[in-house]
Amino acid sequence: MPDRLDPWRAAQADRVFSGTVELARLPRLAEAVIGLAPVPGGVSEVCYRLAFARDALGFVRVSGTVQAVLRLPCQRCLGEVELAVDAPLALGLVRGEQQAERLGEDLDPVLVEDDEPVCPRDWIEDELLLAIPAVPRHAPGDCVAPASPESVAADDREVAAADVAEHDNPFAILARLKSPGRDED
Ligand SMILES: [Zn+2]
Repeated sequence: MPDRLDPWRAAQADRVFSGTVELARLPRLAEAVIGLAPVPGGVSEVCYRLAFARDALGFVRVSGTVQAVLRLPCQRCLGEVELAVDAPLALGLVRGEQQAERLGEDLDPVLVEDDEPVCPRDWIEDELLLAIPAVPRHAPGDCVAPASPESVAADDREVAAADVAEHDNPFAILARLKSPGRDED
């Protein structure tokens, strides 16, 4: 796939591009991940398939998939967590907001300038960046926070706060004070 291409011509010719991209060529993604792990049965790269076509309304649509296994820092155990991404891509190229409104709901609008080439690699990178959770973590129970003094202190504070909530709740105290009296009645 060329770095830059004319999307209108690619759609006219029903071009289909597929292949892999190295992480080094996706600098924004490279900053957000530790690295890439191998995709099932493949390389440690991003695999993509992008098909250009014109739809019934005359829009250029780009559909396909982006696959990668992202290695992310787990925010709980500070170890490494792998995230397998297999994201469908369905873009509709528009020249302005008015066109975007007419676009089918199944397509994500991508604004392009007239006669300007597009860089499909940016779309691939955007899709992977979108797939990264705000707080990457192993599944619950799969890891524990390291027992550093800081995190232990934080845990203690949480436990203490929970105790306060449970025992010093004014209604709980009231209930404890009231129950013996009721027995004497
Ligand atoms: Zn973890």
